[in-house]
Amino acid sequence: MRPDTPAENVDHTAEAARLERTAGLYPEDAEALLLQSAAHLELAGDRPAATTLYDRLLSSSDSLDDPHLIRALKAANLWEYGHEAEARAIIDGIRATAPRDPAPWVIVAESLEAHDELEAAHKTFTEGVTLLLADVPEPPPHACHPLLFGRHRVRRMLGAAHDDWDVLADTLHTSPVPLDELHDPKRVWSLGSDNPAELQAEISRLRAELGAYREELSRPFPVAVLHWPAGELAELVAAYPALSDEYPSHEEHLAGIEASLRELSASGTPNLGIVTGTVPSYEAFAASEASSPSDTDLLPQYATTLAARGRAMSWPPERGAGCWCGSGVAYAGCHGAGA
Ligand SMILES: [Zn+2]
Ligand SMILES: [Zn+2]
Repeated sequence: MRPDTPAENVDHTAEAARLERTAGLYPEDAEALLLQSAAHLELAGDRPAATTLYDRLLSSSDSLDDPHLIRALKAANLWEYGHEAEARAIIDGIRATAPRDPAPWVIVAESLEAHDELEAAHKTFTEGVTLLLADVPEPPPHACHPLLFGRHRVRRMLGAAHDDWDVLADTLHTSPVPLDELHDPKRVWSLGSDNPAELQAEISRLRAELGAYREELSRPFPVAVLHWPAGELAELVAAYPALSDEYPSHEEHLAGIEASLRELSASGTPNLGIVTGTVPSYEAFAASEASSPSDTDLLPQYATTLAARGRAMSWPPERGAGCWCGSGVAYAGCHGAGA
């Protein structure tokens, strides 16, 4: 068993095509799959193709889980390749509609910010925060944190003094670098030309923060490890003996999953998950890839596809929850022992 390919080695065009094919096979999961496919097309630099996918989703007759988010992503993408007027019209429409989900607010405010429209970005963040958090008891839901952090960042850039929302953002932020340091405009603007490398590093840091949330939205489980229950694994190896090198025993398979995930976690990989395979669904996947189930290269792709369909459970399990292996024992007393 091997983990998913690291993000920097992904062939985004191929991955987009694969997710689109998968969406054809699982219409009930098409919205999540096509959004991820579009994200890969954007990363591949094929922005017109991403727009086509967003349009296809928006024109589909099925009811969408989050049409505002799709519109927001479409606007951000359009603006990146010169369609500013259309992007602005969509953004104005989203602000007027006032969706109750924080994600579209964050996407459109960040799009304005990315194009140096700091005042408009500030207004947009504030509208979202006011709408979603004015009557909500603290602490605000996790999904709303990016609204507060984004607003804090833009206000620092504008040189605004802290207000109550900014103080809240500071208390919610848990990374080793405090928000006030991370968002200090002097770090970005005043380093000046005497140290371009340092300036570049600061800009990259801010960009990374902007990009991370976007990536999290489109790729909630960049790394998913494949788990076979005992009965499924026995059936798999009996049907495809070539896979017995990969899976010498069920116990080793389970131990290997836990070891891989701990290693990935120790190396700083965020958003880890486990997906559970079944032989019929794996055979169908192999057929859809015009390949043989004996091909071990298919295993991580199968895992990624299950994760993209929203089938991953996050790892490690919550405190006190049962082990991911299905033993019925608490994680801490099973595969989580010694973690
Ligand atoms: Zn602050
Ligand atoms: Zn276990």
